[in-house]
Order: sequence, then structure tokens, then C-alpha cells
Amino acid sequence: MINGIKALDRSLRWGMVGGGGTSQIGYIHRSAALRDGNFVLQAGAFDLNAERGRAFGVSLGVDADRCYPDYETMFAAEAARADGIEAVSIATPNNTHFTICRAALNAGLHVVCEKPLCFTTEEADELEKLCVEKKKIIGVTYGYAGHQLIHQAREMIAEGLLGEIRIINMQFAHGFHNEAVELQNESTKWRVDPRFVGPSYVLGDLATHPLFIAETMVPKLQVKRLLCSRQSFVKTRAPLEDNAFVMMEYDNGAVGTMWASAVNCGSMHGQKVRVIGEKASLEWWDEQPNQLRYEVQGEPVQILERGMGYLHKSALADDRIGGGHPEGLFEAWSNLYRRFALAMDATDRGDEAFLADFWYPDVHAGLMGVRWVEQCVKSADAGAVWVDC
Ligand code: NAD
Repeated sequence: MINGIKALDRSLRWGMVGGGGTSQIGYIHRSAALRDGNFVLQAGAFDLNAERGRAFGVSLGVDADRCYPDYETMFAAEAARADGIEAVSIATPNNTHFTICRAALNAGLHVVCEKPLCFTTEEADELEKLCVEKKKIIGVTYGYAGHQLIHQAREMIAEGLLGEIRIINMQFAHGFHNEAVELQNESTKWRVDPRFVGPSYVLGDLATHPLFIAETMVPKLQVKRLLCSRQSFVKTRAPLEDNAFVMMEYDNGAVGTMWASAVNCGSMHGQKVRVIGEKASLEWWDEQPNQLRYEVQGEPVQILERGMGYLHKSALADDRIGGGHPEGLFEAWSNLYRRFALAMDATDRGDEAFLADFWYPDVHAGLMGVRWVEQCVKSADAGAVWVDC
């Protein structure tokens, strides 16, 4: 149970790049990082517009002289201070992630980066190697992967309650962009422009979330090859897709599907993962995150509720309140940030034993997502053909 006591005996000095006052995702980063005192916000280059970013930082309580016009100035100035930041979160549009991550690691900072980590496997490899060289971590914010019931599913699958895994169905299919909303909305505009979002829209923006949730539930399975078909139903988005279907084959003979869509009219979020074994299935849906469906063939459906004593101890460890009360995206993110703090501290202490057995979405998780999107685009653009992963 998490009761507000810090994970460490101190708070990590923390800064942000992006996540300014008009951003979609900045607030949940701050809410998650600051919630249990594991981080303390001391600096930021919050906004592309330096003046607006400075005013915003000051309104958050950051010293005016530590609200910087850009990340280069921030990293240099903070490195020169005895009390400079130790970690930074990057919550900017996708095209900037690689360059800012690399600069942060080179400045000796731990990093929390938004997904997708970068655009190419080569870039992700470079970041992974740099983490080893600099002895720093990158945590990636696959938010709902921090929810307790994802870890309940992981334990049940590892215990063999489903038997050998045969099928994994994944989807993240909402309806909010069924029209060209990007003409009015700044946050959507860059998402459908390859200069900012890279080679894909919904595959990188949406599909990487359930893909990582499934990887967390069934860590042993590796995608061996895939076939992707992608569409631009709002024509002005081409060549970027607003809908995609992916078929996958895993190394144990299992198969999987992914549906990513921003044009699934009427759907609020539609993020679901269903894992089907030879004896039973598990299904989790982000619109009802506190319930995990456990369906044993030939028996009535069981709904496992978050916060209940019958769950595995790893699914109870991160509870902040008992069952019956809902915990959702903000709590899942807080769980991740708590884990990022523990991983940063253990890395600084060189505690390999702790890290060997400690789960969090790390730089390798980021790399896997980038490689998967890359292969999907390759497959789709070759006419929906099978490609090796
Ligand atoms: P947004 O356009 O709403 O906000 C981007 C923010 O970054 C703005 O404040 C902007 O001024 C600032 N910015 C842009 N370039 C900058 C730079 N070079 N230096 C400093 N600040 C800069 O975007 P968003 O929707 O908040 O998305 C940001 C990132 O978060 C994207 O990579 C997106 O994929 C990701 N995201 C992740 C989740 C999740 O669930 N993990 C959800 C939404 C968005």
C-alpha cells in the first residue's frame, strides 16, 4: 500500500522540457512525479514560447531564474549548479524526443521520456547504449502499464492459469479524430504532420500503449513477424494513417492482432488487451480499469476487482486506497514515477541486484515500441506484406 511516504529518503531534483500550460500531457507528469514527494520540480524549459514558459513555470512555484528559454540553456545552467537537477522529463512533440534525450543523458541526467521514444531503431539503439555509458536511465511513460491489474494479469499468466498462450488481441481505437479536427486543434495538428510525428500517426501514438501492456502481461513472448494494413480515412492525413490493423506471429506459435484507430466513431478510448490461453482468458479495458475479466472455459466469468485481498501481492503493493474506490490513469502514472525514482536511485548507487529484478518501462521498452512501429510502416507501405521483427 502506498500511503504518501517517499520511496527514497529524499526527493530527486527534477526538471521538465515541454509540458507547458497549454499542453495536453504536462499536468499528469507533474501530478504523478510530485504526488508522493519522490521528485521536486526545480527547473523547466516548459514551452516553445520562452516568455509563456517562464510565466507558467513561475506560476507553478519554480524560481524565475530556473525557468529557461530552451533545454540546451537549462542543461548547461543546471549542470553548473551544486543543487542542479538530477532528472528531467521530456513532454514535447515526438520529433524532438531523440535529440533532447541524448542531450539530457550527455548532461548526466536521468530521463523520463514520452512515447514514442524516437523514430528509428538506430536512434533507440544509440540511446540504449548511451544509458549504459552514462549510467543513467530512461523511463518511458506507457501510463496504464503502471496499473495494478496489469500486474495481476502478469502474475496469473506466469503462474500458468491460462495455460500456453495462443492469441493476444490488442486495440486502442477511439473516435475523437473522425473529422479533420487538426484544423482547429494545435495538439492534433502536429500529430498528423510527418515532420513532427514521424512515419506514423495511430501506430506510434496509440498502438504502442496496448502493445506494451501486452508485453508486460506476457513478457516471455516475442513478436516474430507482422503484417500491417493502414488507412487515412481523413484524406488530408495521408500518408499518415488514422486507422491500422496489424496481425502478428509470436515465437511460441501464438498469434496476435492490433487495431489502432482515431476514427472509431462513438468510442471514448477503446484500449483493450485480451490474452487467450489454452484454458482461460484475461481481458482488461482502460474504460473500466479496476476490473479484470478472468474467463475459464466452461465456468462463469469472474471479475477481479482492484484492491481486493485475493489478488497477487504485486497487484496490491501499489494500491493507494482499498477496493471499491476507483484508481485510474493518474494513479497508474504515479506508480510509474515512483518506480522511475527507485530505478534512478538504484542506478546511481550501482545496485545491480535491485535492478535485475525490478520492473519499469525502460529504454528497452521504448526501443521495442519504435522497432514495432518501424516494421508496421515497412509492411503497410510494401502493400501489407509479412515482415520479420
Ligand atoms: P502538446 O502539443 O499539447 O504540448 C507540447 C508542449 O511542448 C507545449 O507546451 C509546447 O510549447 C512544448 N514544446 C514543444 N517543443 C518544445 C521544445 N523544443 N522545448 C520546450 N517545450 C516545447 O503535446 P502533448 O499532447 O502534450 O504531447 C506531448 C508528448 O506527449 C508527445 O510525444 C505525445 O506523444 C505524448 N503523449 C503521451 C501520452 C501518454 O499517455 N503517455 C498522452 C498524450 C501525449
